[in-house]
Amino acid sequence: MSKSSRKRIVVKVGSHVLTEQTRLARDRMSNLVEFLADLMKRYEVILVSSGAVAAGYSKLKLDKKILNNRQAIASVGQPYLMSAYAKKLARFDILSAQILLSASDFDSRKRTLHSKCTVDTLIDKGVLPIVNENDATDISELVFGDNDQMSAHVAYYFDADMLVILSDIDGYYTKDPREHDDAMMRKEVAQIEAHDLEVPHTPNHSFATGGIVTKLKAAKFLLDRDKEMFMASGFDLTDVRSFLLDGVHLKGTYFKGAS
Ligand code: ADP
Repeated sequence: MSKSSRKRIVVKVGSHVLTEQTRLARDRMSNLVEFLADLMKRYEVILVSSGAVAAGYSKLKLDKKILNNRQAIASVGQPYLMSAYAKKLARFDILSAQILLSASDFDSRKRTLHSKCTVDTLIDKGVLPIVNENDATDISELVFGDNDQMSAHVAYYFDADMLVILSDIDGYYTKDPREHDDAMMRKEVAQIEAHDLEVPHTPNHSFATGGIVTKLKAAKFLLDRDKEMFMASGFDLTDVRSFLLDGVHLKGTYFKGAS
């Protein structure tokens, strides 16, 4: 299949953005879907969405401290999450598809190629592929990364030009802005230093497992492979809209190699 002239973008949305207290944040999800519909007019789009645990927890209240329980809750939540997306996307006449992946899928060239062909076909037909980790068999999202790393793999192996991470914070700062008033946003980052990755995980939310370090690891993975990443707020989509649809960089952090 020939690659179209449109740029391919992977949009990853964090669980904090999609979650309100212990359930799905439906208004924010609606805003996100409206944005994705606009984005799909200009770009090839793949969505990586967290939120299965939050969607499942309102149906099955098990102790989330136990990993097996989180896997069970996510298994209940995944179809509800997909159905919420499907309903909202239908308003824009957009069909969605569910792609569940495990980290080990990326270890095999054959499997990566098969899933990339599936994604290419979906995109070609105007369908929005929605990727999540297969939480019943793979625990890396539930333990480490809130999908940040996985979305970097999706961006690289599915040949995207850029990963866009929509977070509960509007960019990457010189230090944690929730703890330091003098933290300043880094608007452009060309390199991730080893010591940037040593900061302990800082998830500040009961469903989030990522924190800034997993986002920086995702950025490093992509920068090392000549890909780009943009990190912006998923609560207020003004900055990401402006960056991707108007070409104006208001706020948000653009990770882009120096060359
Ligand atoms: P999400 O759920 O959106 O994926 P997380 O809550 O896991 O995001 O991670 C983002 C959080 O990381 C921010 O809310 C912030 O408190 C924390 N953080 C720590 N250091 C930084 C930093 N240097 N810049 C931005 N955020 C930081």
